[in-house]
Amino acid sequence: MTRIKAGFLRYLGSAALAGLIGLSLAAGGATAADDTPAKQIFGKVQLPSNSAPSPIGFYAKGCMAGAVAIPTDGPTWQAMRLSRNRRWGNPAMVQLLEKFSQDAVQLGWGSGILIGDISQPRGGPMLTGHASHQIGLDADIWFTPKPAQPLSAEEREDMPFTSMLDKSKFLTVNAARWTPTHAKLVMQAASYPQVERVFVNPAIKKKLCETWTGDRSLLGKVRPVYGHDEHFHIRMHCPPGASGCKAQAPVASGDGCDKSLAWWFTKEPWAKPVKKPGDKPVKPRFVTLADLPKSCAAVLAAPAATEQSATFGTAYVAPQPQSGDAAIQQVIQAGNSDLPDTVVPVPLARPALQ
Ligand SMILES: [Zn+2]
Repeated sequence: MTRIKAGFLRYLGSAALAGLIGLSLAAGGATAADDTPAKQIFGKVQLPSNSAPSPIGFYAKGCMAGAVAIPTDGPTWQAMRLSRNRRWGNPAMVQLLEKFSQDAVQLGWGSGILIGDISQPRGGPMLTGHASHQIGLDADIWFTPKPAQPLSAEEREDMPFTSMLDKSKFLTVNAARWTPTHAKLVMQAASYPQVERVFVNPAIKKKLCETWTGDRSLLGKVRPVYGHDEHFHIRMHCPPGASGCKAQAPVASGDGCDKSLAWWFTKEPWAKPVKKPGDKPVKPRFVTLADLPKSCAAVLAAPAATEQSATFGTAYVAPQPQSGDAAIQQVIQAGNSDLPDTVVPVPLARPALQ
């Protein structure tokens, strides 16, 4: 406890770090730090802590020590949206993604997977997107296979997501885009014992419920949630021995093709919350460092690892990207011709990932 407190004070007193995270210590630095949304602090950190890997707290309320980065390019994967600096995770996650990318190729999923966000270098809340992804045990995988030619850095920024939904209908999979290989890919992710849950759009879960002829017991891990129509989300169990990692309640037994899925197709998740007379508007309150597990302050204060020392996994030099590659341009154009993403429904009261 005392050690953690001392770490927190060191964190507050560290002028160098304060400069890095843009805090003013001139007057009332502690108060400023107390009120600063944690996402602003964690969102600016560039490198992981140079310490043993440790997920701290819960998927949606925590941070991460000793993160490693998946290389931007592997033989069977590419990391996307590199400017976000979110390809950091627990080593177990990086290992899993490498294995999954190889298995994806075996399933016929192009030349591998496109990896979206994992976590920030020290985890924590993010400035944009995601309530979870805070402890290095969540990762997003695109519903678009890796093209044979490596994408350039620009293409990785600009290539639009491709929704698997038919946006002219309510929560319906686009039959022209969804293939049995998409189903196999999601179920492959769910098949690993270290995977705790896989999140997909309710329409995709429904499609799997109707069509999956493999091991139905694995379907229970595949959970419906809004969004997740152009990517799916893999969540791992807390790794063995990670005592600071808070586990999620296990999924109910069964395939989940039940009331919990049917609920998404009712009016309830999409209905405006009813205001009672006298209800005061709720001011959004940002999560601050004080809301996170205490040791997250020490994680922020810890010395940084170098990117090189913290990059983990198969050493791989990607062939030179060829901008203007016809196949890639086709994918980009197909995505651009899509209707705007806002057409995919998002519930007004947003239920947490369950
Ligand atoms: Zn995600």
